[in-house]
Amino acid sequence: TPRQEAIREIALSKHQLNRVDFKTTHIKELYGKNVFNEETQRARLPKPIFKALQKTIKQGAPLDPTVADAVASAMKDWAFEKGATHYTHLFQPMTGITAEKHDSFLAPDGVGGAIAEFSGKELIKGEPDASSFPSGGLRATFEARGYTAWDPTSPAYIMENPNGSTLVIPTAFLSWTGEALDKKTPLLKSMDALSVQAVRVLKLFGKTPDRVITTVGPEQEYFLIDKSFYYQRPDLLYCGRTLFGAPPPKGQELEDQYFGTIPERVLAYMAEVEAELFKLGVPVKTRHNEVAPSQYEIAPIFENSNLATDHQNLTQEILRKTADKYGLVCLLHEKPFAGINGSGKHNNWSMSTDTENLLEPGHTPHENAQFLVFTAAVLRAVTRYSKILRLAIASAHNDHRLGANEAPPAIISVFLGDQLNDIIEQIEKGGAKTSKQGGMFQTGVSVLPQLPKEAGDRNRTSPFAFTGNKFEFRAVGSSANISGANTVLNTIVAESLDYVATELEKIVAGGKTLTDAIQALLPGLIKESKKVIFNGNGYSAEWHAEAAKRGLPNLKNTVDALPVIIEAETIALFEKYKVYTAGELKSRYNILSEAYVKAIVIEGKTAVMMAKTMILPAALKYQKDVADSVASARAAGVANPPGVETLSSLVTAINALIKGLHTLEHAVGHEAEGEPFDHAKYARDSIIPALVATREAADTLEGIVGDDLWPLPKYREMLFIK
Ligand code: ADP
Ligand code: MG
Repeated sequence: TPRQEAIREIALSKHQLNRVDFKTTHIKELYGKNVFNEETQRARLPKPIFKALQKTIKQGAPLDPTVADAVASAMKDWAFEKGATHYTHLFQPMTGITAEKHDSFLAPDGVGGAIAEFSGKELIKGEPDASSFPSGGLRATFEARGYTAWDPTSPAYIMENPNGSTLVIPTAFLSWTGEALDKKTPLLKSMDALSVQAVRVLKLFGKTPDRVITTVGPEQEYFLIDKSFYYQRPDLLYCGRTLFGAPPPKGQELEDQYFGTIPERVLAYMAEVEAELFKLGVPVKTRHNEVAPSQYEIAPIFENSNLATDHQNLTQEILRKTADKYGLVCLLHEKPFAGINGSGKHNNWSMSTDTENLLEPGHTPHENAQFLVFTAAVLRAVTRYSKILRLAIASAHNDHRLGANEAPPAIISVFLGDQLNDIIEQIEKGGAKTSKQGGMFQTGVSVLPQLPKEAGDRNRTSPFAFTGNKFEFRAVGSSANISGANTVLNTIVAESLDYVATELEKIVAGGKTLTDAIQALLPGLIKESKKVIFNGNGYSAEWHAEAAKRGLPNLKNTVDALPVIIEAETIALFEKYKVYTAGELKSRYNILSEAYVKAIVIEGKTAVMMAKTMILPAALKYQKDVADSVASARAAGVANPPGVETLSSLVTAINALIKGLHTLEHAVGHEAEGEPFDHAKYARDSIIPALVATREAADTLEGIVGDDLWPLPKYREMLFIK
């Protein structure tokens, strides 16, 4: 059978595992090799141009248009030397993935030859036809004009290809009327909004940085399975996740996978992924096995949110692309396999100036007023706007993960850890006098060194955890573009810092010292935020009950979360900080609703196709085999032939499958009335239950039908045969 063939192929296949030789190419030489980075800019740009460009990159100064021509010309020469034939404006339309259209550098010279051209105008602005990207009603399709605008703060790079490389220019994507059609523009705006407010707060502390940047270090989880299995699973191919599949005899219960030895083929893959990312200047740092079988993680060192987001998108692309070279497929879906852990993306987030991380508590955080003010502002933001944060991670895919006892629940709470929690409680009661110290950790073994102990333990069950000197937003989905989560995070914290700055300024203007002002303000902030602080087990049923008692929102799925986008409070918030207009929010409401519907409908159609043309025929064939065997045994005089029970459970399961299939087919074929959101509701309430019922019957059948007849690679094969 094709399944057996796939397994044989995997057993015999010899993949080339030494494609990158780190003895001849040291990682230090690879790093940034294909990036038009500061070093390259310095070497290739006239000094005044270099300075002007750096001022934009580092201080957010408006870009002088005359700079563009000089930059473009230097970029072109550099790209040519690297073997580039084309350039592209890369943007992030609201599909969530990146988009690119390639243009050749060549232009006819008018006398039969050609010259290489790349002007400042071409660097700054592109004009892709916007009509085929989702706009959520922002503009009619006849007004198709969209512009891509160069983002000088994210350096251009070369995407290598043996068939001619491409100079890639990160850009924002806007409609002709100036509305953001992408995910980068709002992120940049949210960074600006936060910067303005954070600078105001720092000014009270006597500091005058030009700007405050937000930083992000996103950890990416993913699965790798053999390509031979992948192609035999239409569900993986079309939906990114298995719609059918009985649990394997062994899952993740032995806990032997997490941090386990990395298989050779996977390690070779990881090394090449890293080498490719190094060349692109993505500072990848960590790799390891994750909890589920065949699940892994890659994490970079943090960067400013904009760059981190671009690099995160690149990481997803390189992870996908490189897998092919090793006969593997990288699954970035949040829940490729039922019954074992899904994949997330821990979004580590902080704020910093050129010189300090504003969430760095130091040794005695209770005395660190500045740290406490910024932390309290974050707490207030998460408390007030927890529904918007929840919304920022909502997708049909992520619905499978959140609250499924492996990822944080859909209830947004904050984990502070012992030390910070203690300080917050002291402040609430009137003033913080001490910081609990970690001290030294006694190993109890004389040959082992004494270790310094952290002041607080970790908590893996919290959606939003303070982890030493940053917050970790753990509920983000593995396939998500992290710009959404960070745009929200930056904006809600900007609002909070605005409030804090305004209050402190008022009290100080009234003649009080800053210390008095802070002492007057913080206890109230903390009282308000108390309800989101939870240091216990976020996966437990008790927490769900407790959270309900505290009045914390629990938006269980995407459809529950979607209406938050168009609530008056949300619109007021984003308009005030000029991150989204009401129209842009409405468009995102429609786009997210549509994306949800499309994902579920494709799953429904795929499940119908598979159940009808693959699973049912196998089950009927087996039914015939068993029935024949029973009949012939009877004919031969066996009074109670074995197989009768099998036959009866087969018939029951086949009937259940057919029933589920009918309901599913009807649900998928039915058109809901109304707005995209109404369709989303319909998909959740009608298609998903039918999908679940169909799967249940199919998975039961998988446990009965003869193995040689089963058409789909099984969990036990996909997850364990490497
Ligand atoms: P863990 O898995 O224990 O949470 P990792 O080391 O895998 O830890 O990931 C931590 C991530 O947090 C890294 O990407 C790291 O660069 C990032 N990080 C550290 N400091 C900051 C910061 N100030 N701002 C944003 N991210 C940070
Ligand atoms: Mg982490």
